[in-house]
Amino acid sequence: MSDESKKRPQSSPEDIQNAQYGGVPMGRWKEGLLFEGIAPTPGLKSAANWFPRTEKLGPDEMRIIFMGTAPMIRPGQMNTSVFVQLGNGNNFIFDLGEGSIANYVASGFSLNELDKIFITHLHVDHFGSLPYLYMFGGWSGRWHNKLRVFGPSGRTPEYGTAKMIEGMQMMLGWHMDAFDVFPNGEGWNIEVNEFDFRDNGGVIYDEDGVTVTHWQRSHAKDGASGYRLDWNGLSMAWTGDGRPSHLDAKYAAGVDVYITETRAELVSISSGVQGVPPFLGRYTIDTHHTPGYAAGYLMNEVKPRLGMTTHMEFDAYQNEETVAEIREHWKGPFHFGAPDGVVVNVTKDDIWVREGIIPRFPNLRSPQFDFDDGQLVVPLPRKTREDIQEPFVREQQIDPADYYPEGYHPILLEDWPVDSDLVIDLETLPPALLESMGERWRDRKAYNKHISELTADAEPDE
Ligand SMILES: [Zn+2]
Ligand SMILES: [Zn+2]
Repeated sequence: MSDESKKRPQSSPEDIQNAQYGGVPMGRWKEGLLFEGIAPTPGLKSAANWFPRTEKLGPDEMRIIFMGTAPMIRPGQMNTSVFVQLGNGNNFIFDLGEGSIANYVASGFSLNELDKIFITHLHVDHFGSLPYLYMFGGWSGRWHNKLRVFGPSGRTPEYGTAKMIEGMQMMLGWHMDAFDVFPNGEGWNIEVNEFDFRDNGGVIYDEDGVTVTHWQRSHAKDGASGYRLDWNGLSMAWTGDGRPSHLDAKYAAGVDVYITETRAELVSISSGVQGVPPFLGRYTIDTHHTPGYAAGYLMNEVKPRLGMTTHMEFDAYQNEETVAEIREHWKGPFHFGAPDGVVVNVTKDDIWVREGIIPRFPNLRSPQFDFDDGQLVVPLPRKTREDIQEPFVREQQIDPADYYPEGYHPILLEDWPVDSDLVIDLETLPPALLESMGERWRDRKAYNKHISELTADAEPDE
């Protein structure tokens, strides 16, 4: 029997028409109350889930990943952190709450490419992971780029971001000296950008077509800020913590993705669930935070393409309540920026929100280098063990020959093997090493190629 004989007659054009267009609005009605302009962006491997390191961001696309989403830390919800990646290869961290660094690692980002941190305010649930990133990022390849921290001043200098950094460095004195036996180069250098918290609308970052502006939040104490990032016709805002204010509406106006914190009006019920007495919950909200109704009110003022809430317990008993409160004023698209791992892709046409599949037992990604000079440069460590450790305890170490079995004795590296910076031309690097450390380098090249092609297209034909 030939294949031809298995072929069946096609259904009637009418049946095909009915089946193809059944369930598809085709402009005949509006589908969904929350889905105006919400659709998968091109280039997703799966419209259902994001899997770390499987998707290249489009050159004109923004991706936002919620790396920490609650003020009360718990597995599944680390303290607040909002990560923004841009198609030009840049990335930005807005707040770096306690524990959130674990989600960055699990999402496949190397510690040395996380180098721009914007802190909304100095409550520890917004910067608790900074000491870890500072120390282990330096160890893990942040050898040639400083950590850059942006944050508000306080009403007096002792409450400003610069003073916090100074205090953090003092706290880490032992750790920094200990890690000086490693090749950390620029690792301990921090560029602190403390801005005047009163300078509403001030631009604190303006590089590669990206601007970040800030405004004051009313969060019980002076020195709390909201941030807005604009790039390539796309924008996002993260308010940080605070009471709803006219400044939020003014400075976040028209942003594509508006992210605010929120608290549902469930003080009495929450007290039974969370163990926070009602008077403490009520007082905390009314002096520091944004009720669900106010989050919706502000979304309606700001009119974003997508409104989001984070810094909230993602609990079944309050999620629907939160939505109901927000819907009192805001009829447009809305999603939770919680629990950890919510991923948002943004292009000019579409915005899409997915669950990210973040592994529980990940490993570090190799450090990523820009390789501007075509070379891998490993700095010389500043210290030796002899510099920072008395001989006695080293002399008590058991002779390795006593525990390594016969024939399994590795060649130990007890002293740093070179006595100056190690410099290796890329073409002589083992391909596997170049492969693992050069992704960022290749991405940047691809983006520059995209931009030059766009520019070439724009030139008039002769
Ligand atoms: Zn907070
Ligand atoms: Zn706070």
